[in-house]
Order: sequence, then C-alpha cells, then structure tokens
Amino acid sequence: MDGCFCSQGSFAVFLSVAHPQDPHHPSEKPVIHCHKCGEPCKGEVLRVQTKHFHIKCFTCKVCGCDLAQGGFFIKNGEYLCTLDYQRMYGTRCHGCGEFVEGEVVTALGKTYHPNCFACTICK
Ligand SMILES: [Zn+2]
Ligand SMILES: [Zn+2]
Ligand SMILES: [Zn+2]
Repeated sequence: MDGCFCSQGSFAVFLSVAHPQDPHHPSEKPVIHCHKCGEPCKGEVLRVQTKHFHIKCFTCKVCGCDLAQGGFFIKNGEYLCTLDYQRMYGTRCHGCGEFVEGEVVTALGKTYHPNCFACTICK
C-alpha cells in the first residue's frame, strides 16, 4: 500500500512522530524535517513518498488548499490539488470539452469520454 502512487492521484500517509529529539536516544533516529518549511516535524506529520510535511505545510502549490484532505497530484516535484492539476495538465474531452478522468477513448490523437465518443452524424 505504501508506495502505490497510481496515475489517478496520490494520497498522503498520516504519521505520528513521537519525540524526534528524545535526549535519551540521541542517535536512534534522524530528525525528520518538513520538506516545505525545513523545520523539524513533531507530532502529526504527513509522509508522501520519501518526504515529510507538517500537516499545515502540505498545501496546494497553486491555490494553497489543504492537500491532506483529499487526493493530490505530484507534477515536477510540485504538489497540486486535483482541480489545479486538471486545470494545468488535464486532458479535455474533444466531444464536450470537460476534463476526462478514468476511462477514456482515444482516437486519432483525440481523447473522449466513452459517452461522448459517438458518431457525430447519427448520434
Ligand atoms: Zn513545515
Ligand atoms: Zn489547488
Ligand atoms: Zn465528453
């Protein structure tokens, strides 16, 4: 389950980091630093692939929304919410102009919803 980042988006793993700088075990674990702000992570953190974030730091690069709540996409090392990802990189149906997700039909280099892929003459 960890490590499954399919093309339909990614989900963060919630972790609890207890006492990362425990003085009794000074070298037991490296301190986890937030990938966004660089501060050490304590308490609730998010892990995304190999990177860790404070929950409050894990936000959409574009609109700043909270990515911990839903699916997100990673593109060129940037974290985007589903809406912004679709807006910037999404594929639009050649039939209706809406974004295509999941099942698609591709014909002659154009992408369609299965429902939109109908004969333009007789439909
Ligand atoms: Zn942070
Ligand atoms: Zn966004
Ligand atoms: Zn369509």
